[in-house]
Amino acid sequence: MYGTPAAVSHDTGILYINSELFDKLTPFQKEFVKQHEIGHYRLQTHDEFRADRYAFNKLVGKYKRSLKQSIGTLETILDGNDTEHQKRIQSMYELALKWDAEHGNVAAAREFKRIMKKVSRGDGKNTETVQAVNTAGDKMNELATIIFQGNVAEKQTENTGDNTKTLMYMMMALAIIVVLKK
Ligand SMILES: [Zn+2]
Repeated sequence: MYGTPAAVSHDTGILYINSELFDKLTPFQKEFVKQHEIGHYRLQTHDEFRADRYAFNKLVGKYKRSLKQSIGTLETILDGNDTEHQKRIQSMYELALKWDAEHGNVAAAREFKRIMKKVSRGDGKNTETVQAVNTAGDKMNELATIIFQGNVAEKQTENTGDNTKTLMYMMMALAIIVVLKK
């Protein structure tokens, strides 16, 4: 248990808590760590990335600032000097951006696309990543289309006040470089 706040038995599913570390965590971080361990057991995997994803999917959208808090949890419990740990933090960041993009944050979609392009240039053999780039790109175009169509439709049917407001929100959304919604 040294150095880790919790662990799980893959045979019994019993969760072991290292209270010395666990007690220092915030309520969100405790929940994330618990779900991470449950993920190891439920998926019967030793893969840390999969367990992180499991925890993220359980908590995202259910807590305030769940995106930033998920990244923050890994930054808190992992070692920033460890290459594998750095990869887990980066992967969580990408997961949060992707979720945000898929939930309508155009700025997040743009940032996700930019990051994924960089990743795929450096590592062409990762087809999952390349696929993610394309999905993010499609999603961004889709969002842009929806916003544009919404604007045109409103111009035709609604009064100028609402229309200006919509345009203003759109400009604000575009002005943000990367701001995670939650
Ligand atoms: Zn783990």
